[in-house]
Amino acid sequence: MSPRIAVVGSGPGGLAFARVLHRHHHPVTVLERDPSPDARPPGGTLDLHEGMGQLALDKAGLLTEFQALSRPEGQAMRILDTDGTVLRDWRPRPDDHANPEIDRGQLRDVLLGPLDVQWERSVTRVVPGTGGGAVVHCADGRQEEFDLVVGADGAWSRVRPAVSPVTPHYTGITSVETSLDDVDTRHPDLARLVGHGSVAVYGVNRKLVAQRNSGGHVKVYAQFRAPLDWHAHLDPADTEAVRSSLLALFDGWAAPVLDLLRHGTAFVHRPLHVLPVDHTWPHVPGVTLLGDAAHLMPPLGAGANLAMLEGAELAESIATGPDDLDATVRAFEDRMWPRAHRWAEITTAGLDRLLSPDPTQALAHFTQVQP
Ligand SMILES: Cc1cc2nc3c(=O)[nH]c(=O)nc-3n(C[C@H](O)[C@H](O)[C@H](O)COP(=O)(O)OP(=O)(O)OC[C@H]3O[C@@H](n4cnc5c(N)ncnc54)[C@H](O)[C@@H]3O)c2cc1C
Repeated sequence: MSPRIAVVGSGPGGLAFARVLHRHHHPVTVLERDPSPDARPPGGTLDLHEGMGQLALDKAGLLTEFQALSRPEGQAMRILDTDGTVLRDWRPRPDDHANPEIDRGQLRDVLLGPLDVQWERSVTRVVPGTGGGAVVHCADGRQEEFDLVVGADGAWSRVRPAVSPVTPHYTGITSVETSLDDVDTRHPDLARLVGHGSVAVYGVNRKLVAQRNSGGHVKVYAQFRAPLDWHAHLDPADTEAVRSSLLALFDGWAAPVLDLLRHGTAFVHRPLHVLPVDHTWPHVPGVTLLGDAAHLMPPLGAGANLAMLEGAELAESIATGPDDLDATVRAFEDRMWPRAHRWAEITTAGLDRLLSPDPTQALAHFTQVQP
């Protein structure tokens, strides 16, 4: 009989895991806190790397669907000085498919496909059994036993405490997100500024990045070093107050760059938290983690890729490997930890350089990663 497997969370990691199991006709229970796929705005665009997120989609048999929707031209990247001078203007070759962008909502729909997700099943805790397996407790009072519970429930994982007491800590860097709609018609100058991909401006301990999503939607991220309660005096629902406070923070930057904030709609505050770069745990039979739940790191293009690759790899080894489920999970963890550690170090160092007292560090960072 197939082992009973549950995955908690229908983010990129949990869905890649479930979809690869589904491809191998292996049953899996997907428990998701959100009441429906569209209950929350899905977030911005993701770049999926060839040997990571794209490899995961290949393992799920979804690469062609991804290629039909993704935007290779979205890899374009322009870097400006705070006075608006173009310092770098990089465009991908037409055949460059190394890191195409895709809207999160589109990726979610591709991964969801025929999966039967149990929506509105918020997991409160997971209790490992003495003889292997684990019991999942949900907020609706229901509980269910599985041979393996995979925690793919993100930064504030409710599964993590079953294997590790560690919780995320604040990086000292916060991100405030806003967006512009229908940019080509309503803000043609800003559409040109952002181009087909993204535009980034680096100042002292702060940066502004705008990224084109599909359908003329642009997401803008203002990031800066600040205490966690920097906005304590602001009403987060008061869009104009948040806007003024951000414009003051970026005072003196070129007008077209500040227009990205002037025309932004609502602002969403996202302080950046991380887990320790070397986070691991003593193996616990019946429970494991993947993605942000296992190794939350700065958002620099690795998190979703790792989560998907891990999900796909674990599912593939469960479906095609030997019958010893616990040995399969141990081997997965031994592979995941060093790779995640390496990426956590890279992204942590990257974040430090991109939000540095010396903005030339940011340009040096890009010259190194994209010669
Ligand atoms: C601004 C920004 C830009 C980024 N850009 C990129 C990028 O370009 N490339 C990249 O690779 N990464 C990027 N990342 C990182 C990436 O978003 C994350 O690393 C990725 O989403 C992690 O996937 P996950 O499946 O582990 O967790 P998540 O995406 O966080 O999904 C977790 C899921 O679990 C559900 N859940 C949570 N708690 C419970 C519970 N108790 N019970 C049931 N369900 C629960 C949530 O509702 C959610 O659906 C970016 C992050 C940010 C913030």
